[in-house]
Amino acid sequence: MSDFGWTEEQELARRMLRRWVTEKLEPATDALERCEVPPYELMRDLVRTFALADLARASFERAAARSAAPTEGESRGGVMGGGDAALQALLVIELCRVNPGFFMAFGASVGLAGGAIMARGTPEQRRRFGLPLVTMEQIGAWGMTEPGAGSDAFGAMRTVAREDGDGYLLSGQKTFITNAPFADLCVIYAKLARDGDQPEARPIHAFVVERGAPGFVQGPPMRKMGMHSSPTGELFLEEVRVPRDHLLGGEALVAARDGARDVFHGERTGMAPMALGIIERCLETALAYSQQRVTWGRPIAEYQLVQEKLARMFMHKQNVENLVWKQLALQRNRRSMSPAEASATKLYSARAATEVALDAVQLLGGNGYMQEFRVEQLARDAKLLQIGGGTDEIQIANIARWLCRD
Ligand SMILES: Cc1cc2nc3c(=O)[nH]c(=O)nc-3n(C[C@H](O)[C@H](O)[C@H](O)COP(=O)(O)OP(=O)(O)OC[C@H]3O[C@@H](n4cnc5c(N)ncnc54)[C@H](O)[C@@H]3O)c2cc1C
Repeated sequence: MSDFGWTEEQELARRMLRRWVTEKLEPATDALERCEVPPYELMRDLVRTFALADLARASFERAAARSAAPTEGESRGGVMGGGDAALQALLVIELCRVNPGFFMAFGASVGLAGGAIMARGTPEQRRRFGLPLVTMEQIGAWGMTEPGAGSDAFGAMRTVAREDGDGYLLSGQKTFITNAPFADLCVIYAKLARDGDQPEARPIHAFVVERGAPGFVQGPPMRKMGMHSSPTGELFLEEVRVPRDHLLGGEALVAARDGARDVFHGERTGMAPMALGIIERCLETALAYSQQRVTWGRPIAEYQLVQEKLARMFMHKQNVENLVWKQLALQRNRRSMSPAEASATKLYSARAATEVALDAVQLLGGNGYMQEFRVEQLARDAKLLQIGGGTDEIQIANIARWLCRD
């Protein structure tokens, strides 16, 4: 792609993705949104249709041959575009035009859980636990948040891991975890406790916990405002024994806290394509509707109050699109956004998506409030972007802290 715009090849890929979304995801969305079926079989269909597992496996083996951890593009992007960041972004945009919840479940498994293992795991862990996630053979969940520890996830964390013989015993509780009810394996963050240590000095590490481990309970899907296609749940750990090789990064004890920060960074910049998908679809729906809906003998698009909404939607679309392209340009040059830029990208994109989706509901009047036109679903889904991966308020605090640093 050029710095601002998609290449012809990428446009072609986009049309192919849109065909799959129109033929497979749109017709399934009512059942997914009513939680009648989990999203995983359809995800596997997506992966099969575009041979994404083969691409993921190939990029994994390339990295393994270099004896290196896969790059962010390779690990997160393996299944989501063969390591090509632009194709990965297009996949997110196209899925989120119709069903952001479906993408969230997909992204949490491949990008959060799979990405954490690929970025931080030992070569054995990457092959054993990471590869099945990035090829979608298994479903993953990424467990950081706890009932008492959300925004202050590290400081207030209560989940502990105690060394015990040839392994660790994990105890604690996680909540609001995407894919928790159905995940085959979960990346669980815990404070490592040692005899006689000070609780506040305990380092945070990530552990792989597999479905069915004694003492490990995966709660049922929670009912929520939006993102219904994405199952969310609690995880309960009562003295769950994991072998030493389930400590992510191995006994060398990499700083899982930094690893979690990497994932947060990726989650923040990764929200812009999600927001763009929502914004694109809402603008298109609102534009078409306002040109055909007539009041007092004129299409509503001719009224200035309606035009103001359409113009703001277009402005947000342009800005978020530019943020996506900036992110891609940086990645091409092996650079990344600063923490403040990543927070500002998330803050702006999430707010823009919510505003645009709610304006689309308003512009469609009664029809906007009905499920048929889909904008009410996108509005409920968009709101999550302001909460998950760090709330708006936390992004503001991050930006201010960075601006005011020494
Ligand atoms: C659908 C869904 C899926 C999720 N998926 C996952 C997942 O897969 N894995 C995972 O680990 N987590 C997940 N989360 C959790 C999510 O990351 C947290 O909900 C989020 O970080 C906020 O934490 P909290 O809910 O505890 O809110 P709190 O931290 O309790 O915040 C409550 C309010 O207080 C504000 N606030 C808090 N501290 C400050 C401050 N210092 N200054 C100003 N305002 C402040 C917040 O902005 C917010 O408005 C998910 C959440 C949802 C809703």
